[in-house]
Amino acid sequence: MFLVLCKIVKSLKEQFHRHCYLLLIFLRQLPTLFQMDGRVEVSREGKYLSTLSGAKVLGELAILYNCQRTATITAITECNLWAIERQCFQTIMMRTGLIRQAEYTDFLKSVPIFKDLAEDTLIKISDVLEETHYQRGDYIVRQGARGDTFFIISKGKVRVTIKQQDTQEEKFIRMLGKGDFFGEKALQGDDLRTANIICESPEGVSCLVIDRETFNQLISSLDEIKHRYDDEGAMERRKINEEFRDINLTDLRVIATLGVGGFGRVELVQVNGDNSRSFALKQMKKSQIVETRQQQHIMSEKEIMGEANCQFIVKLFKTFKDKKYLYMLMESCLGGELWTILRDKGNFDDATTRFYTACVVEAFDYLHSRNIIYRDLKPENLLLDEKGYVKLVDFGFAKKLQTGRKTWTFCGTPEYVAPEVILNRGHDISADYWSLGVLMFELLTGTPPFTGSDPMRTYNIILKGIDAIEFPRNITRNASNLIKKLCRDNPAERLGYQRGGISEIQKHKWFDGFYWWGLQNRSLEPPIKPSVKSVVDTANFDEYPPDPEGPPPDDVSGWDKDF
Ligand code: ATP
Ligand code: MG
Repeated sequence: MFLVLCKIVKSLKEQFHRHCYLLLIFLRQLPTLFQMDGRVEVSREGKYLSTLSGAKVLGELAILYNCQRTATITAITECNLWAIERQCFQTIMMRTGLIRQAEYTDFLKSVPIFKDLAEDTLIKISDVLEETHYQRGDYIVRQGARGDTFFIISKGKVRVTIKQQDTQEEKFIRMLGKGDFFGEKALQGDDLRTANIICESPEGVSCLVIDRETFNQLISSLDEIKHRYDDEGAMERRKINEEFRDINLTDLRVIATLGVGGFGRVELVQVNGDNSRSFALKQMKKSQIVETRQQQHIMSEKEIMGEANCQFIVKLFKTFKDKKYLYMLMESCLGGELWTILRDKGNFDDATTRFYTACVVEAFDYLHSRNIIYRDLKPENLLLDEKGYVKLVDFGFAKKLQTGRKTWTFCGTPEYVAPEVILNRGHDISADYWSLGVLMFELLTGTPPFTGSDPMRTYNIILKGIDAIEFPRNITRNASNLIKKLCRDNPAERLGYQRGGISEIQKHKWFDGFYWWGLQNRSLEPPIKPSVKSVVDTANFDEYPPDPEGPPPDDVSGWDKDF
């Protein structure tokens, strides 16, 4: 008898907040994906659920991230199982992705029109190359036809021929093979093809292709990469540091709890002797951070939030630490979470959704132009200030990327995760545009477009794409057009990631007539004005009982010395 204890993932989507998922590699020893032949029985807490036989996959969620198994699988016949560990899977996926990227980039380097482009640019182009296959005898390009596609041969051989004017016969010119390319003129202008290219290899030919439009969109967006220098931001920072220099933890008085997050609580506090204003103090248990290996994420949360100077991002004023906790002293947003308002109202109309989406677009514009990816968009992480403007909070998953590079950590909230994150293909700021489309849909309808009864089902729905989703009638044509352009499967095709960058989103028809300038200078009237009676009014927040776990153990190992 072969017994495998296997608890299938329990849906963590609770009645209240959705929790973020991240890849935790600390349960390395667990084999996580099984394919079997033989028969097994699935049970939970001693209760029989079902019998599985033949080739089935079990525990597949575990190769994405650490999760609890919630069912027991018992072999009832002799079984053969294959297992793969998460870390092994991750490494393979990352390595194949990187190898492919390096190989494609090498191909591109040999093409004369690409030779002056920077490595980063080539990497971006290699990401959008699509592989297409041809059978022996296929005409890949026909003489005299117009074309806008450029090809690089990645496998097999092709024959180049030219039709003779007099005899109309096709004259053999040469053979081309792996690494050779053709049709490069098509990228610069409409190309009248001057030769035939015919697939020659008996086993077929594969080409990497890119068309003129994709190429141009990519290249000009790369040309235009903004270099905004932040003298103003740096000055503002210095002023804040000065102002908070003498404030210590012991000067803070807790008024009430505003929220409970993954690592602890967020309290509304006031500085002793100053009743004119209040702050939010996020308090995180060090032992829990270490247990879940989130040290790096927390350091980057502090760094990114601490440097950000944008009115659509919650400001971080100062950080503290003691033996048990790390603390972040932030501006308080007393309008509450957008999530709470959405829950109470059910859904928002077009204009309301437009205002909140625009606030997020502004925040993304700020972050993306600095190559920072946010990765945790959802209504729970959008807070209203007393005026009704929305700000991004919770930078636990934000990350600064090197230009042209991707990142591989599986994280985010299941409903908001982009397909390339699920497929482990590496992702970049374009994953944020995906989540922006999901947010718009959720605000307009009350439910995100990709929703399953558990995370694995949700991922499967996400992988089927936005076109498989039915759009309720109350989503206008322009809104659904924008959502679909944001939620393209191919990250490079998403609006915001192409030529013109995020301004393409601002210029979309759905935003026609929207007063962006008014939003930026805060003269635009928000759709919902929260009632905030004083700087200590917490009526817009849910109530939270005291922490049942009590204080965590001390952690004096020193990993947090730079916090
Ligand atoms: P999780 O990872 O589970 O989302 P977290 O530990 O990262 O949570 P946050 O999302 O930063 O914590 O904060 C938790 C909640 O506390 C927020 O959803 C919000 O309700 C409240 N909160 C956080 N910061 C502020 C703030 N500056 N002003 C008002 N409320 C806040
Ligand atoms: Mg949060």
